[in-house]
Amino acid sequence: MEVNKEITLKNIPTKASEHYRNFPMVPRVVYGKGSFEQLGDILMPKRKHSEAPMIFLVDDVFEGTELLRRIPTIFSDQIILISAEEEPKTIQVDALVKMIKDQFVEMPSGVIGIGGGTLLDLAKAVAIMLTNKGDASSYQGWDLVHKKAIYHVGIPTISGTGAEVSRTTVLLGPEKKLGINSDYTTFDQVVLDPELTKGVPKEQWFYTGMDCYIHCIESLTGTYLNAFSQSYGEKSLDLCKEVFLGNITADDSREKLMMASWHGGMSIAYSQVGVAHAMSYGLGYVLGVKHGIGNCLVFKYLKDFYPEGVRLFEEMVQKHQIELPSGICENLTDAEMDTMISVALGMEPLWENALGKNWKSKISSEKLRSIYKKI
Ligand code: NAD
Ligand code: ZN
Repeated sequence: MEVNKEITLKNIPTKASEHYRNFPMVPRVVYGKGSFEQLGDILMPKRKHSEAPMIFLVDDVFEGTELLRRIPTIFSDQIILISAEEEPKTIQVDALVKMIKDQFVEMPSGVIGIGGGTLLDLAKAVAIMLTNKGDASSYQGWDLVHKKAIYHVGIPTISGTGAEVSRTTVLLGPEKKLGINSDYTTFDQVVLDPELTKGVPKEQWFYTGMDCYIHCIESLTGTYLNAFSQSYGEKSLDLCKEVFLGNITADDSREKLMMASWHGGMSIAYSQVGVAHAMSYGLGYVLGVKHGIGNCLVFKYLKDFYPEGVRLFEEMVQKHQIELPSGICENLTDAEMDTMISVALGMEPLWENALGKNWKSKISSEKLRSIYKKI
């Protein structure tokens, strides 16, 4: 099975003689409390005609809420509610695309994802697969997409992953978990309305928020760091400290975490993540542990790598009285443990970023085993 290199393409050359990545950015963004109200106006010029609908993919946690009523549907637009309980899958993307194609004669005018990283990734993938032939799984990898996606918009309702700015959509395929990394993946428009994150439960707020915090620590302490990444990473880290350790109002906190996520995503886009993400990926691969919580479970035990980062993390856990689950790896078989370790060690650029070019001499399977056993 192929190891997920979700983020590995985000590494960038460190020497001037190497080729620098030409990174696509979100060309349009609206920010502000209540900015969701502008969605109708934003979409209007993108509507091709009345038979070409806007397709809204919405986290089903919003079923029956005011938000659904505020979605500016007209003509034959469709709202599709989707659960974020499980990570997005290629077959789910294929099924959505088939459903849309069966139902509408015309190609939709756009796809709008409303939710967390799960819904944002689904919206990106559906937008790509509406114009590209075959199955979503055949595009998992790097730069395999050759046709422009249809117009797609990302509207986060929880902050932290940076999926709103990234050029990947991470999908679980039949044989591998891997992103569709391409210049066409990035959203055409993002709407950042901090009010949309109001209902997020505390634990989930913390786990997804810590994804952002860990992006900053791993980017800022990494060997791939450069002024581009540092400028975004430092700002994001300052915002995370205010949100998770400061005494600010709930309103302020929502606004700041939303911008921390954005900056954190921009920071790793041009550098790389590190040990926590590599090991969290092993947890996700073998045990299905989700990205945010997986990062937290691992990070706690990474004092040797990120002493100051872990110290602050512990302060944050205490301040918010977060009870991290334990005993996760207790009943792993030796074979499962070995898979977990090899999956984590397979994320080579992450290790190189964290520990330098000769990272292989600085980390061992035994070290990883001893950390996993504590989790
Ligand atoms: P999520 O989308 O999985 O949602 C987590 C939970 O929060 C769900 O139960 C969801 O229903 C709930 N939720 C979301 N908004 C809410 C709201 N306003 N009120 C109440 N509940 C709400 O969470 P996530 O952590 O944002 O995303 C994780 C996913 O993102 C993973 O699948 C991961 O692979 C992916 N990811 C992608 C990238 C990328 O660059 N594409 C980066 C990091 C992670
Ligand atoms: Zn992450």
